[in-house]
This record gives sequence, structure tokens and C-alpha cells, in this order.
Amino acid sequence: MQPSMFNVRVPLGEVADRDEVFLMNTFTDAQLIVSREVAALLDRLAAGAPESALTADERDALSTLTEHGFVVDDRGAERRRLEDYFHSVRENDDQLRVTVLTTLQCNFACDYCFQGDHGDHNRFAAKMTLETAARVAQWTEDQLDRLGSESFSLTFFGGEPLLNLPVVYYLSERLWAACEARGVRMRSSIITNGLLLTAEVVDRLLPYGLDGVKITLDGDKDTHNRMRPLRGGQGTFDRIIHNVRQVAGKCRIAIGGNFDEGSVDSYPALLDFLAGQDFADKLTRVSFKPVIREPKPVAPKGMIPLTVVGSQGKPLNGTCMTSAGGGTSICDNCNFVDEKMSFLRDETTKRGFSTVDGVHMGPCEIHRRHAHTIGPDGALYACPGFSGDAKESTGHIDGRRDASRESAAARFEALAAWKDCDDCAFIPVCAGGCTVAAHAELGDKNRPNCHKTSFEAGLVSLARDAAAAELQTVN
Ligand code: SF4
Ligand code: SF4
Repeated sequence: MQPSMFNVRVPLGEVADRDEVFLMNTFTDAQLIVSREVAALLDRLAAGAPESALTADERDALSTLTEHGFVVDDRGAERRRLEDYFHSVRENDDQLRVTVLTTLQCNFACDYCFQGDHGDHNRFAAKMTLETAARVAQWTEDQLDRLGSESFSLTFFGGEPLLNLPVVYYLSERLWAACEARGVRMRSSIITNGLLLTAEVVDRLLPYGLDGVKITLDGDKDTHNRMRPLRGGQGTFDRIIHNVRQVAGKCRIAIGGNFDEGSVDSYPALLDFLAGQDFADKLTRVSFKPVIREPKPVAPKGMIPLTVVGSQGKPLNGTCMTSAGGGTSICDNCNFVDEKMSFLRDETTKRGFSTVDGVHMGPCEIHRRHAHTIGPDGALYACPGFSGDAKESTGHIDGRRDASRESAAARFEALAAWKDCDDCAFIPVCAGGCTVAAHAELGDKNRPNCHKTSFEAGLVSLARDAAAAELQTVN
């Protein structure tokens, strides 16, 4: 018998002034608070202590540890279970997930974004036509028939998706009817800058499965208005807050934010502001991630470097590129981020908001065969982060085949960066990190993009929360 390679631990003396140890297994997701003796038992097993040398109490503990996956027969079998797990994630057809980029146009002129109302961008940026939307709907119906999925998740993304409301309405209504006819549960969501998110839009979409909206606020009012203005420089914060208030309670509302070195310190003030609003208890999630920028020499000092794909230097949808990643992906692709993510997570939970825990982060969309991103022209992509680059298109809704798409599809099919992660305990919840970041930073999609310190910081928060929850139960 051996300790599982996916065991992680936090001595609670470091975070909660207690003498025990928080244990987690990232594969089974089991979490236990155990005595130091039990934690030491795992170390003795790792050192080769035979079962026959254990006391009766230790055997009892061993049985509990085995039941929760902290002890396994042998590492080879565990590695094979890991392979099976990734295979099952990839092939799982219980749910079909489709992210539709209704347009690449945007009504904001964000400081850090290459899209949006800058220069001529909107004049040339693609927008899905109703004719293409009809073909997207047909393609989706065909997938539902082929897979027999129990549920369907539709996400509207962009650019700013609400700049193309006819397509949003059309796809929602038609695919809702298609799901009803097939007995499939459908839910939809919108990732939006919030400026056009009115009660009228939400009311129109609620009967067709609208479940949640994710809105971006980049810091407190002054910071947000500086980071996310309209083209004329007018601020957008007040209008977005007004809109959130109008739709609060109608559907789930998540607040996201993009921070950089210059804006991160304004987030506590934003959190204080949100906590004081009458809709605070209607916010289902508040989470932040770093701004992604072009690398030097383009990026001014202090900005987080990244993300250009392809020789033409095309951006990957700027900062918006990863918001649709399964709703659980952080896409934290820069070294600055680990510590700041942890800081913001703690600040967020302190004010009573639910947020990502920093450990349960993946595997993300790109590891799922039946999760698709569809561009405004009907091109298919493996995840939203690659949708800015036609060379990364893996197919097309009209079934057209060409060498470029087939080779891209084969490259994505072969992705398994985690295989280079040796015996890292975070593989089941990380899968080797964000592929888009690996592509941009390392020039290789199939290499791990590692932010282990971020997972370790998340684990410490998880341990502290578990200790506090246990204390509450005891009292
Ligand atoms: S590869 Fe990166 S950008 Fe794409 S879904 Fe995964 S975490 Fe998000
Ligand atoms: S990328 Fe890093 S944290 Fe993620 S599984 Fe690999 S080694 Fe672990």
C-alpha cells in the first residue's frame, strides 16, 4: 500500500492555530482534518512501513484513508485511473456545451483590449448573421441528436454579445424549442460588459433558459472607468451598476474583473462597494483574473505580459479570452497572478461573496470533446481563447474540411500537457494549466503552463475554511 500521489496537506497550525493537519486528495476530492499522527502514518507508508507493523488504531485510520483514496494499492494503477479519468472527461457526452461568439465588435474601448471601439476595429470585426445563426442552430441540433446528451449549455460571448441581440434571441428561442422537443435540459448564459444588459433583455430570455450572466467590473468606480471607458472616454461603471440592480434576482449574476498591477489595489474598494449594495446577496459569484497583454516591447511597464498568437500578432480576444472556460477556469497565465489571485480571493470571501476556491479549477473546456466555441462566421474552435486566430480553427459548422483545420484538430486532439507534470498532486484539478497561455508563453500548446503556487495558495484557503466550518459544526 502507498499514499496516493494526489494527496496534499496543510498543517493547521499555520492557518488556524490548531494542531491537526488538513488532508485533501485532488483525485477523489476527499478532504479530512486528521491528527498529526495520522498524517505521519502516510509518511511511514511512503517510507515502506509494512501493514503488519501498524497498531489496531493505525489500521483503523488506514482503512478510512484508503476508503477516501488517500492510500492506494500501487501508483501504476493510480496513474492508469488518471488516464481513464481524462479519457472520460474528454468523451463525456452527458452535456453538449456551445459558446457562440455573436460578434467580435465591442462598444467599449478598454485600455487593455485589442478588440472594441478602437480605431477601425468595429468596422471590420465580424458579426454573425441570422443566416449563419440558423446554420449554427441546425449544427447544434444535429449534435444533440448524434450525442443524445441530457443537457445543453449555451453561452453567448464576444466581443460584446449583446451588440447582436437578434442572434441572441434567435438562437435562444430556436434551441430552447429543439431541447424541449428532445427532452434535453437547456440553460444559457451571457458573458457581457453589462452596458446593454437591461431588464427587458433578461425578461425576453428567461423563458428560454437564461440562467446566468457574467459581468465585468475592473476595480472600483474610478479604476473601472479608466480601464473600461466608452470611446469618448465616458465612464461605464454607474450604468452597469444600474443595470445589475435592474436584473438582480431575475437570474444568477456573477461579477468578474480583470486586474493588472496598477488596478489590483482598487479591488477591495470595489468589494466594499458591492457588499453595500441592495443586490449584494443576489451576486452568486465574484471572481477576478489578470489582464492579458501583448508581450514586450509592446506592453508598457507594469502590465502583465502576454498573449499574442500567430505570426501576425493577432490577439486572443484580449482579456475576455477565457471567461467562458467552463465557468471554473481561471486561466491565470502570468507569474504575477498567483499571489494576487490569493489576495483577492481572501478579500472576496471576507465580504461574504462566493468565489472560486483556487483548487477546483479544471479540467477546462479544452479537454472536453463536446465543448465547442463557434466564431461569428461558423468556424469551430477548441476553446474561446483560440478564437482570435483562424489558424487554430478545428472545423466549421458547414462540415468543410481543409488541411489547416484538420491539422489544428489533430493538434488539439493530442493535447495532454499534464503528462509532463510527473507526479504533481494537482494534475486532476489542473491538467497542466491553460493551453492558450502555454501556446503564447511557451510556444507549445502541449507543455504545462504551471501555476502550482496558485494551487498551493488556494489549498491553504481551503484548509482554513474547512477548519472554520468544522469548528462551527462542533459549536
Ligand atoms: S485552455 Fe485556457 S483559455 Fe482555453 S478554456 Fe482552458 S483555461 Fe480557458
Ligand atoms: S501545470 Fe504545474 S500545477 Fe498544473 S499539474 Fe502541471 S506541474 Fe501541477
